Parts: sequence; C-alpha cells; structure tokens
Amino acid sequence: MLSDSTFSVSQIRTHFPILNQLVNEFPLIYLDNAATTQKPISVIEAVSRYYLNDNANVHRASHQLSNRATCAFEAAREKVKNFINAADSKEIIWTKGTTESINLLANVLAPQLTKGDEIIISALEHHANIVPWQMLAERIGIVLKVIPLTDNSTLDIDAYKLLLSDKTKLVAVAHISNALGVINPVKEIIKLAHQTGAQVLIDGAQAVAHQRVDVQELDCDYYVFSGHKLFGPTGIGVLYGKQHLLELLPPWQGGGEMIKSVSFEHTTYNDLPFKFEAGTPNIAGVIGLAAAVDFINSYDRQDFLKHEQCLLAFTERALAQMPEIKLFCAGVEKSGAVSFAVKGEHPTDIAMLLDAQGIAVRSGSHCAMPLMKALNCSGTVRVSFSIYNTIAEAQRFIEALKNVVQMLQE
Ligand code: PLP
Repeated sequence: MLSDSTFSVSQIRTHFPILNQLVNEFPLIYLDNAATTQKPISVIEAVSRYYLNDNANVHRASHQLSNRATCAFEAAREKVKNFINAADSKEIIWTKGTTESINLLANVLAPQLTKGDEIIISALEHHANIVPWQMLAERIGIVLKVIPLTDNSTLDIDAYKLLLSDKTKLVAVAHISNALGVINPVKEIIKLAHQTGAQVLIDGAQAVAHQRVDVQELDCDYYVFSGHKLFGPTGIGVLYGKQHLLELLPPWQGGGEMIKSVSFEHTTYNDLPFKFEAGTPNIAGVIGLAAAVDFINSYDRQDFLKHEQCLLAFTERALAQMPEIKLFCAGVEKSGAVSFAVKGEHPTDIAMLLDAQGIAVRSGSHCAMPLMKALNCSGTVRVSFSIYNTIAEAQRFIEALKNVVQMLQE
C-alpha cells in the first residue's frame, strides 16, 4: 500500500517547522528518529511559556510563581502516570533520561544484592543497559548473564529459560532494539522471570514512541524511557517502579528535596517520588514532556502506529529487492527502525553520501557494540521513522540509496 495512511501526515508536519528546510540544497528528510525525535511547536512553546511566565523553583516557596511551577510539574507527573498506566503518580520518578534511570536503579539495587547473584541482560542491549550492570558487577561481584540471539537475530527465549535460576535477581532487557527495531517478547520475558522470583526492568527508550505502553498490563517491576525520543525535550526521562518495590530502595543522590528533616545527628528521607529526586529538577523539561504527551494524546495512537508500519513495510520491501543490500532481521516484526548494510561498503560512507542529498540516517554501532559483534559486522545503516515521515520521503530515500550504491560500485 503506497498511501500515507488514514490520517493527514501533512497536517502533522505543520507542527514540526524544523522539517521545512533545505540540507545540502535538498529538502531535509529526517530518518534518525530513534536517536531523537523532532519537537512539535506545542512542546517548544510550553517550555518557553514556562520560562517567560512561571519560572520558579518547585515545591519550595509559597509565592505565586513557585505555586504555578509546582502545579505544572506535578500535573505532568500525573499525565505521564496515565500515559503508561502506572497505578500511582508516586511511581513516576523524574530523571535525566533512560541512561540515568538505569544508573539510578543499578545504584539503589546494590544493597539488595550480594556476590554471586545474577542479572540477566540480552545480546541486543544499548550500552546504557549493559555498562551500569558491569560497573555493579565490578563493585559487588554480581554475575552478568546474556540472552543470546537466534539465527534471525531475535532473542533466544529457550536459552533465556536456561539462564533463569534462583540466583537471578533481575532481568533487564529492551522493549524494542534501538539498533534493529526488533520488538522483544517482553511480556513472556517478564512472566518467566517472575516465576523464578526475579524482578524485571524494561528499557522502553525505543518503545514509548511506537507502542501504547501499559506497565500494569506488562507487569514489569521497572520501566525506563527518555522524553526526547517521544517529541519531548532532551534532559528529561522517567524511571517507573512499582510502589512497594521503590519503597524498599534507599535514595541514590543526597541533597535538597529528597529529605524530610536534616540534622547533624540524623537525617530522614522524603517519601516517594521525592526520595529519588535530589536537587532542583529539570522543571522546563518536565513541562515540555507533558506537552509532548498532550500532543500524542490529541491523536489516535493506532493511526500513528499504522502509518509507521506502512513506512517500515515499504522500506523493508524495497531494500529486500536490492541485491547489494544485507538486511538485518528481514521479516521479523519490527517497530520504528530498519537496519541494513551495503555489501562491501562502510556504513558511514553510505550515511555521508545520503546526507549530501539531505537525508539524515544513522550509521555505526548504535551504542550496541556487543550486538554488532554478534551480528559479525562493524556497524549498520539505520533508518528510523516517525509520524511526520511520508511515503514520498521513504521513496526518495530508496532512490538516493540506489544512486549511492551505483556510484560506489561503479
Ligand atoms: N536504551 C535504548 C534502547 C536507547 O535506544 C537509548 C538511546 O538511544 C538509550 C537506552 C539511552 O537513552 P538516553 O541517551 O536518552 O539516556
């Protein structure tokens, strides 16, 4: 199907003026949405309105500006709670992003873990869901186990079942692979982990923009994501945790906001969610993220998903017809992104030659070096879509890629 689906992409694009520019004298085609999404005017305006009218620190003063800032800040928490269907807004902890959420968790889980305890991650994780656990392993001697890939680069669930044991304390896996776009069977992964008594962290950095996420339905213990991949600002993210689990965890950073009382003899910590939010938070980022959630909620989510699937299917089909292309995970259910290599060519050369034609794609290891090793390649070219991309753009990308391949192989 070569249509732009049932909803109006041209109407959506009016919210993203950044898309209307020439790059290297060609109309910009932005296909690097897995790295970060563009921001709608409503998000940009919400951030500037806050700085223009309401700028004040939150929770700390009884003056009007602070009250307004605090109301917007806490209303945003409620909005995000509803967006992922958390049971309570206390379960929404503001962080800088996915990376900080995982580091926070790795640090506060440490006291519950002892030498020899096991954490399971997977072969297709982003470095943000590998390195914090390796640092913890170095610090306290936990053992890191890795779910391997099957021949078509999906997670090997049979091997995962064999890794699970009563030593497993946490399973930490991506909802959707940032490098390959593959959707992991997280519901099954969570159920199996819970059967052995392990907790589960889902890295939702790539999923929140492309799926309706319901943390209660998933039954994950923790879920993390970044605002900037969801049309929100950079520097704001979320750590969701089940309330009864978060209550048991110690704070991470110390300072203002995370305490109830301080004396030199004894300090008591604040309640959730503030216990984990030391210092002045990214107030403008939180307000921008709430505007991003409002933007998404003003559309039918199913329309977004259908449109993105249409772009993905068209692109994957066209790539599959090019003999020079090696497609990763061909035919496997994906969301948002497709990865490929041009046989005999370096991915960065492909990306640079596409950029010369105004087309922004990503090349390299996508912060997933162990995955590249498992795939036996140094990197891939990744095309990642969002709701404002059009079929015409996908077509132009394919034509430009054909030109690039022809030029390099002449
Ligand atoms: N996890 C995944 C799956 C990602 O795609 C990313 C970013 O690309 C991250 C973690 C890190 O996100 P951030 O850099 O926003 O902290």
